[in-house]
Amino acid sequence: MHGGLDERTLLSNIPPSGVLTIDLGAVRANYSKLKEMTGAAVAAVVKADAYGLGAYEVGRALQSEGCNHFFVAHLQEGFSLQKVLSPESSIYILNGVQPGGELGCAQAGLIPVLNSLEQTRRWCEAADLLKRPLPGILQFDTGMSRLGIPADEREAVAALLETTQNVPILFAMSHLASADEATNKQNAAQLAQMRRIMSDFHWTDMCFANSGGIFLGAHFHGGMVRSGIAVYGGAPTDFIENPMRPVVRLEVAVIQTREVPAGTKIGYGGTHVAQSRMRLATIAAGYADGLPRSLSDRGAVYYQGHRLPIVGRVSMDSMTIDVTGLPDGTLDLGSMVEVIGPNQSIDQLAASAGTISYEILTSIGTRYSRKYC
Ligand SMILES: *Cc1c(COP(=O)(O)O)cnc(C)c1O
Repeated sequence: MHGGLDERTLLSNIPPSGVLTIDLGAVRANYSKLKEMTGAAVAAVVKADAYGLGAYEVGRALQSEGCNHFFVAHLQEGFSLQKVLSPESSIYILNGVQPGGELGCAQAGLIPVLNSLEQTRRWCEAADLLKRPLPGILQFDTGMSRLGIPADEREAVAALLETTQNVPILFAMSHLASADEATNKQNAAQLAQMRRIMSDFHWTDMCFANSGGIFLGAHFHGGMVRSGIAVYGGAPTDFIENPMRPVVRLEVAVIQTREVPAGTKIGYGGTHVAQSRMRLATIAAGYADGLPRSLSDRGAVYYQGHRLPIVGRVSMDSMTIDVTGLPDGTLDLGSMVEVIGPNQSIDQLAASAGTISYEILTSIGTRYSRKYC
């Protein structure tokens, strides 16, 4: 008890240092837009806690929109997600299963992406041991050299599956390296590879396109597509303006304001020196909140449509912005500025930081209060 208030009431009255608003209506609208674009099943990629936005909330919202295929990266993510999704949902593990994880994966009913002959063999052995069919997805490397069965293992995988017969293959999958670049020749090259694989594995269906791949056209779609970034409002392709609805908004509190004369050093290392009298505001956003240090002296935040440049280095928990352009006294202790919102999309913020929207989303810190709407 503090002055008669219980702790819960006290905490609920504390003004947030930032508010991250996640628009689940926009998530649903984006998902259904993708569904309209393809005759394929649309799986949602909810790895890394749904790109940082909350796999539980996002997963449930997508489920209510009719989504029942979900991809995560780690087996552990699959176990957590399974607890919150309806049992009809299929959950696929992109990174595959480490040796020894097969029985746990099988018993939970999670479906691995089989990325090599060895993983396929181990999955077949688990099916033998459990004496029941265990479905899987075969991933092939078509030019990214990251994950997937290499060309010289294809024949052995096909032979193994023919003799074993207890691992039904739901899809033959691959991943595009340059799908967001509509005119990149690598897309056609990977498609050609994929077509060759699909003729060898003609008895199963193709799962090829990520968000960018969906926008490359129907010949990339196959039986199921896998979308992450487009669902979360990021730009999926470079050949049209982003058609997806923004999902994320981030507003951050001003924690101090000051005026400094010309010649004043600002921030770590004194890298920024005021050229003239400046008004500054320090806000509660730093690299520990997912605002990359590369935004130092490059990025900006917004207040009522005014661009407020970041000056000096981004710190762990704060950064300083130039508010000289605003009338004196506009911003004060407790005012909120826009970091992501109508004036600055996740793609624009990412571009200023020299990165991609994916990295911005998955880094957004957990210190802000979250509002789902
Ligand atoms: C992350 C990932 C996706 C989702 O990609 P987006 O570009 O976000 O749609 C799809 N497939 C694989 C294999 C992935 O790793």
